[in-house]
Amino acid sequence: MSDTATNSPSIPAPQAIGIPLASEVPCHSAELLVHLARLVHGGDTDTSLTPAQWTALRYFASANRFSRTPTAFSEFHATTKGTASQTVKSLIGLGLLERRAHDSDGRSAMIEVTAAGQAKLQRDPLADLTRCIRALPEPRRREFLATLTELGGALARLRTAPTFGKCGDCGHCDTSGGSGAYCRCTQEMLNGTEMQSICVDFAQGAPRLR
Ligand code: SF4
Repeated sequence: MSDTATNSPSIPAPQAIGIPLASEVPCHSAELLVHLARLVHGGDTDTSLTPAQWTALRYFASANRFSRTPTAFSEFHATTKGTASQTVKSLIGLGLLERRAHDSDGRSAMIEVTAAGQAKLQRDPLADLTRCIRALPEPRRREFLATLTELGGALARLRTAPTFGKCGDCGHCDTSGGSGAYCRCTQEMLNGTEMQSICVDFAQGAPRLR
């Protein structure tokens, strides 16, 4: 990113949120992260979908019911609504995603992964990286996740983008009632599957009722 973009009025300056300015020296860690992301789709992997299509398929398989919309996907993928919508349409055309009426609001639609989409995910190129991460000792995996979460939050603040996360770490999640978990943002009870799903309304760092 250029200095001009960094100082745009819509993007807070890194110093304002406690992040030192990048030096001129290349950051090996940042370059490695980008390299890893590119390696995921290299070699002998299933190239019948583009990386953006794989990301969308994965997203709709792991997002909760409040987040399975093209708009939420556009925020997750840091792309425009138009581009996200085209990606979703292409996957619907391939029979891997489908539109369904929303459970509680018949006027809006949710995007769901079809049985063919679930079968496709069995050949997800990300599986190799997942295996490499799971081969790390548990303490290093935990530390790695915490570091990535912190970096994701810091970069999202710089980009004024939402941070995606799960209910267990969310400030909107209220488990103080003793009868399961309640989301104070969507004002809905949460089931076990949703607690493990990613959410566009996730609020990192907000005080949580337990
Ligand atoms: S508790 Fe947070 S992460 Fe869970 S559904 Fe509500 S807003 Fe989303």
